[in-house]
Amino acid sequence: MQEYLSCELCPRRCGADRTKTVGFCGQSDRIRIARAGLHKWEEPCISGERGSGTVFFSGCTLRCCFCQNYEISHQNKGYYVEVGELAEIFLRLQDDGAHNINLVSPTPFIPSIKKALDLAKPRLNIPIVCNCGGYERVETVKSLDGYVDVWLPDLKYFSPELSKKYSGAKDYFEAASAAIMQMQKQAGKPVFGEGGLLIRGVLVRHLLLPTLRKDSAKVVEFLGEHFSRDEILISVMSQYTPMYRAAEHPEICRKISTFEYNFVLKEAEKYGFEGFSQERGSAEEAYVPEFEGEKE
Ligand code: SF4
Repeated sequence: MQEYLSCELCPRRCGADRTKTVGFCGQSDRIRIARAGLHKWEEPCISGERGSGTVFFSGCTLRCCFCQNYEISHQNKGYYVEVGELAEIFLRLQDDGAHNINLVSPTPFIPSIKKALDLAKPRLNIPIVCNCGGYERVETVKSLDGYVDVWLPDLKYFSPELSKKYSGAKDYFEAASAAIMQMQKQAGKPVFGEGGLLIRGVLVRHLLLPTLRKDSAKVVEFLGEHFSRDEILISVMSQYTPMYRAAEHPEICRKISTFEYNFVLKEAEKYGFEGFSQERGSAEEAYVPEFEGEKE
């Protein structure tokens, strides 16, 4: 596919010819996934009762030192599937009762995913969720207009220094904030269907990191100043657990405190956002599913 010859799908714009090599994200032009199944650990409006039909894609455009999915994002665990097989996976998840198709970290494979969705379209009638790190190009978001119903982006940092230090992307906020504004333009206000499931809209996730509550407050302030309370949903996530290479940064090598969590929740309340916050007690451990395939 044309887009893989000199890849500029994400803000890295590394220009790799993915038909011959891999890009910064570690991916060639072959679709690689590490798990496809019903997933019940998203927000209730995404998971519902039966679960979200989640497909985890291998590789990542970010380098978060605390990544809980590092086996697939950084160590490239997974297996290859063809476009037709991916379409079959989407339909199988729907047949299994999935409330939606949840594409996790899909950015490096978007052209192939669109082809798979085109193939599945005649039978696929559940919403498509794009579950991403927020580090996206506006052009790539635009290319998904008509394909994605629900956007589930992270907005991790405000400060370029922090995003560089912990996720290897100095331009994270600049890219993610512009991408989220485009997502909202395309999806419009949140729309809920049967059983309180989100069928259209944008749900922005923010994972609190220890010692970074003031940066979190700036993230919330940005959302509050650029969106009215009924235009987006926000989910303040408290389940940070130091994993992978978090130990290289002692200041983030602990769970967040109740004080830090309440501090950020109060900021969100100031802007009156409708959204989700997680009970501290029930979110003590990060949930990591079993991934399939080999590391490379
Ligand atoms: S998606 Fe991968 S190959 Fe494409 S620009 Fe981003 S890092 Fe490079």
